[in-house]
Amino acid sequence: MQTIKPPYIDSHAHLDMLTHRGLQLEEVLKDAFDNGLEGIIAIACADKNGQFEQGIAPARMHRRIWSAAGVHPHAASIYNDTVAATLRTALIDANAVALGEIGLDYHYNYSEPKAQRQAFIAQINLARELNLPVVIHTRNADDDTISILKGEGVQELGGVIHCFSSGETLAREALDMGLYLSFSGIVTFPKSTDVQDVVRWAPENRILCETDSPFLSPAPHRGKINIPGQVQFVTQKVAALRNSDLMALATTVWENTRRCFKLPVKEK
Ligand SMILES: [Zn+2]
Ligand SMILES: [Zn+2]
Repeated sequence: MQTIKPPYIDSHAHLDMLTHRGLQLEEVLKDAFDNGLEGIIAIACADKNGQFEQGIAPARMHRRIWSAAGVHPHAASIYNDTVAATLRTALIDANAVALGEIGLDYHYNYSEPKAQRQAFIAQINLARELNLPVVIHTRNADDDTISILKGEGVQELGGVIHCFSSGETLAREALDMGLYLSFSGIVTFPKSTDVQDVVRWAPENRILCETDSPFLSPAPHRGKINIPGQVQFVTQKVAALRNSDLMALATTVWENTRRCFKLPVKEK
């Protein structure tokens, strides 16, 4: 008898970076899909030349991969009219389901905070023009993130705080704006008590799960290269923290992801 697997979906993975780490993407994906993964949102960040094609390519090949594209806050300093035009074309060409990841990262400050804020706001406006939800990255920047999300009316666009790694204040503000919270391998780390608390009380219909591959490999594979199939460990931990039935929780997360990104059915 074949056992029915929960319908896992990875709402945030950098598939091009897996290739850069020396993995054979086709093998990784086949293994993941064979083992119950039902879908991946592939996040295409601009490469150093301001191009998105490498990140978008996997979604062209697979029925169960959808793409999003955007200029990451780390690279915000490259954002200009040319990159904006390339991004716009890439989003349309790829039939992208979201704009992102975009946001603020004051932990690393690889780009100046001012440049980060400008690129963030400009891309929110592009998302509005293209009628796309946004994938938001925020680290050590909760206050500025909240004020930009509110000031720019992100409530009307919808979207997700990806790799949620903060606490109750940001979670409540985001939920009030109708956004989703996406949890990553961080929830499996014993010291992440603030995030685990949010997992426990967040409304079930606003929860997504992700790997952020190749980063943040969850327990029991912490420290290794992360791959989309490992979203099962994140989803299992979320279900355990909430005392939820795994099949029911995974099914709700799948429906949430589909609703958040208005996932179209793909022919191939
Ligand atoms: Zn991120
Ligand atoms: Zn990411």
